[in-house]
Amino acid sequence: MDDASFKYLFGPVPSRRLGRSLGVDTIPLKTCTYDCVYCQLGRTTNKTVVRDEYVPLEAVLDELSRALTTGPPPDYISFAGSGEPTLYSRLGELIAGIKAMTAIPVAVVTNGSLFWDPEVRKAVAEADLVMPSLDAGDEDTFQRVNRPHPDITFDKMVAGLKDLRREFGGPIWLEVFVLAGLTTERSQVEKIARIAKEIAPDRIQLNSVARPPAEGSAEAACPEELKVCAEILGGSAQVIHDYQFESSETRGPANEAAVVSLLKRRPCSVEDIVNGLGLHSNEVLKHLGHLSRDGRIERLEIGGRTCFSVVSTQTQAQNSQE
Ligand code: SF4
Repeated sequence: MDDASFKYLFGPVPSRRLGRSLGVDTIPLKTCTYDCVYCQLGRTTNKTVVRDEYVPLEAVLDELSRALTTGPPPDYISFAGSGEPTLYSRLGELIAGIKAMTAIPVAVVTNGSLFWDPEVRKAVAEADLVMPSLDAGDEDTFQRVNRPHPDITFDKMVAGLKDLRREFGGPIWLEVFVLAGLTTERSQVEKIARIAKEIAPDRIQLNSVARPPAEGSAEAACPEELKVCAEILGGSAQVIHDYQFESSETRGPANEAAVVSLLKRRPCSVEDIVNGLGLHSNEVLKHLGHLSRDGRIERLEIGGRTCFSVVSTQTQAQNSQE
């Protein structure tokens, strides 16, 4: 996708859960109902439960209709990006508009915090897949891991997920994001397992820190810990891994703007960018070198991987004054 002119779309990105996923981002950075310690987008600057038309619906649909005419079709169109997608007040209309345009399945990647609101459950009703999170087994841990808006209690959030299960006809994949030394404790995982059983998702997917988190204290669980957690969570639980594309996959057009657009949403390694945008590694290295020299991206080390992230406009301005 040549996305120099796209404001609300990003990718397709290599998603560990969705394959090649074209992202739809309707929420300003970083507007969310939570402020998770592990968030790869940094700390929440607008913690809210107010749903709004943060971006014009018609403009998003216009971009999608243009994007879908270029490059190979993505495996999914997914709502994700700079904040919590269910905060978009016209989400239901937008999903309906996409369904009228294409048969590509639509996924909503959500923290699952607002399903106690019937309007939010109605908004996702036409999606093909809903992917909510459950990262804690009790109120205290919920506060420590997700740092929710004061209007959202643990019990309210869980009740909403159960209501979603009752009303939503499609598959629900529940993500459990575990943190070493906090939610890998057996007693905590057992509590999560009991609640997950009541929610009855079609899949449980276990995840942990793979990119730089908002708080340095958020530590990745090791593979052995994840395996034990999956056993406690039971039959449908799976540990999810980094998605890799086949080298023979058809590649779509992309350019430096596409690299920047991808790095704005998440820090990526060279390999992530190659896989996500379908560029040759030499071309990716050329763009990264250029962006680095301009001070627009920075290098980060995480879990032995070198990643790149976009430098904030404010930091760029400070650097240029030095
Ligand atoms: S990880 Fe998701 S839910 Fe948590 S603060 Fe970041 S955007 Fe919000």
